[in-house]
Amino acid sequence: MSNEKTQVELLKEELFMDNEHTAKVIDDAEMAVAFEFCEGYKKFLNSCKTEREAAAFTVAVAKENGFEEFDNTKKYNAGDKIYYLNRGKAVILAVMGKKSVGEGVRIAAAHIDSPRLDLKPNPLYEDTDIALFKTHYYGGVKKYQWVTIPLSLHGVVVKKDGSVVNVNIGENEGDPQFVITDLLPHLAASQMERKPRELIKGEELNILVGSLPFKSDSGSELVKLNIMKILNEKYGIVERDFLTAELEAVPAMPVSDIGFDRSMIGGYGHDDRVCAYPAMQAIFELDGAPEYTAVTVLTDKEETGSDGNTGLQSDYLRYFLADLGRAENLMGRDVLSKSKCLSADVNAAFDPTFAHVLDKMNCAYINKGIVVTKYTGSGGKGGTSDASAEYVGEVARIFDNGGVNWQLGELGKVDEGGGGTVAKYIANMNVDVVDVGVPVLSMHAPFEVVSKLDVYMAKKAFLKFFEA
Ligand code: MN
Ligand code: MN
Repeated sequence: MSNEKTQVELLKEELFMDNEHTAKVIDDAEMAVAFEFCEGYKKFLNSCKTEREAAAFTVAVAKENGFEEFDNTKKYNAGDKIYYLNRGKAVILAVMGKKSVGEGVRIAAAHIDSPRLDLKPNPLYEDTDIALFKTHYYGGVKKYQWVTIPLSLHGVVVKKDGSVVNVNIGENEGDPQFVITDLLPHLAASQMERKPRELIKGEELNILVGSLPFKSDSGSELVKLNIMKILNEKYGIVERDFLTAELEAVPAMPVSDIGFDRSMIGGYGHDDRVCAYPAMQAIFELDGAPEYTAVTVLTDKEETGSDGNTGLQSDYLRYFLADLGRAENLMGRDVLSKSKCLSADVNAAFDPTFAHVLDKMNCAYINKGIVVTKYTGSGGKGGTSDASAEYVGEVARIFDNGGVNWQLGELGKVDEGGGGTVAKYIANMNVDVVDVGVPVLSMHAPFEVVSKLDVYMAKKAFLKFFEA
């Protein structure tokens, strides 16, 4: 047998598309760099379980990297690094480029909110000597996944005098944790007849928070009273303060390597901190001033539709860019119309166990690099920003030339469902936008899975985009 390739093999190489496993594309040295990069990501994921925590982390690391708080009356020069914190829940980072912002900026936009269970404004009650918190779930969750797992509580309470108490309980060694109970199978006959969507109902997502009564001879609601007393001693709060609080229950499990080969990471909140972390690290890694001003946006409220003043349907990004333009006597539209954006959000990874919902020819696979998604939406591309062939081509060239392993994938089979990202809100400002991101297994579950090589490749992709 000869080692020479046959004519068929040669022709296939020339004409067919082939998406390679990233391990076949990069060398051992880069592989080690990729795995090391993920150690930083794992720490970020463990310490940032809410948008507020992720925003605070980002600002802290930005400051360490020489970023200064944005002053919209100031004119910035090439190489200047600035950050803008929007209400503690969304952050914009920018490194000023050599060119005028009138030539457009390069934006990487990811979100730092994740599906979770928010406490209702009046959450605490007692029923039959058990104290519970009522919740209102946030984002698209399969509610049955959120019972019988350890939960922690994060957020802020604004007290009557205006002072703010930070809450973070259930993450540290020795902390108590919380849980939502489920029915034992022995008595679940009627529950198992419910439609899956109602297997656990929204009003059944009640968090167990206590069971000891306040010591007293008489009185009602003594367990609730005891919990309030503990909260008052620890945080100085009274029941009324729940009304002016934002408390979020999230999975308390720490991240973990997954697989004998440690090739994957399991954890809460990959969607979309797995894009947020690489997008932030890419801008930190910029060496000097890029040609075009680089902007990383880490936004809030994507999971509930991007509405609200910390979501990307609001004008905070537009105003930030307009302010950069004004410093050069430009209109905001002058900056926006020439800008380019990678809308960085996760996509569904092919799962062999649930292969039927994905078109194998047009879906993303773990370990095959960052996934480029030309359009999202559902039911005939409904609600999509369909990136132009020209812009997808431009991004593909940047990735090809930069050694970025990438693949193309859409979210599921036609008519199987779908979803959206922030892409359309940025595109609606007359910016060229395409979705890119990391493929995720078990997206929106309390414990999602990504591939380490894909996390690294996302960072490389954003860096090459900023440097182009
Ligand atoms: Mn997302
Ligand atoms: Mn999501």
